[in-house]
Amino acid sequence: MTIGTLYIIAAPSGAGKTSLVKQLVADTANLTVSISHTTRAMRPGETDGQDYYFVSVATFQAMLAGQAFLEHAQVFDNFYGTARQTVQDNLNQGLDVILEIDWQGAQQIKRLLPDSLGIFILPPSIAVLEQRLRGRGQDDEAIIARRMRDAVAEMSHYREFDYLVVNDDFALALQELKSIITSQRLLRVRQEQQCQALLAALLS
Ligand code: 5GP
Repeated sequence: MTIGTLYIIAAPSGAGKTSLVKQLVADTANLTVSISHTTRAMRPGETDGQDYYFVSVATFQAMLAGQAFLEHAQVFDNFYGTARQTVQDNLNQGLDVILEIDWQGAQQIKRLLPDSLGIFILPPSIAVLEQRLRGRGQDDEAIIARRMRDAVAEMSHYREFDYLVVNDDFALALQELKSIITSQRLLRVRQEQQCQALLAALLS
């Protein structure tokens, strides 16, 4: 069994990353997304164990001390981390795994696992990003301004990623993500292992 590919997908909030990843995983066989641990409060509509594992700061710190995280970071005012064991198990079973993490986590993963592939998702324009960050129009201007600054700070790391996908048209961006996964799966080094019997039969 070939070991799976690890994908890091990052984006500023408002780029549509989570929706894209959800659809990508739903549409693609043998692809899974890692569920992170976080100390932030659950938002309406989120489910524990599905969107995140929502944990206390004490639990997070105990996991950190126990080397349970493959990577971790403080993002805005909360802690986030990727549990090492599940990711390792999935990769060993031949599943491709997506980590939806920020640039700090991406740097740690690239250092630890240089074969991982980074994908950065961009919004189509500053105006669209701002419109998406304004959400339902209930936040004050200072909050919007901070979100915009955070988004620009995240985007300034785009060079640390292997692929850039612009999410203007959702269907097109989804197709582009699928193309990245497909081309990776078709690499000779992977196909040689997937098609061992075929190659042996063809060349005998
Ligand atoms: P949110 O709280 O809005 O879901 O996520 C805030 C930011 O934290 C996003 O950029 C998201 O990608 C990042 N994030 C989520 N989980 C992890 C994780 O396990 N590790 C790291 N480094 N960042 C994460």
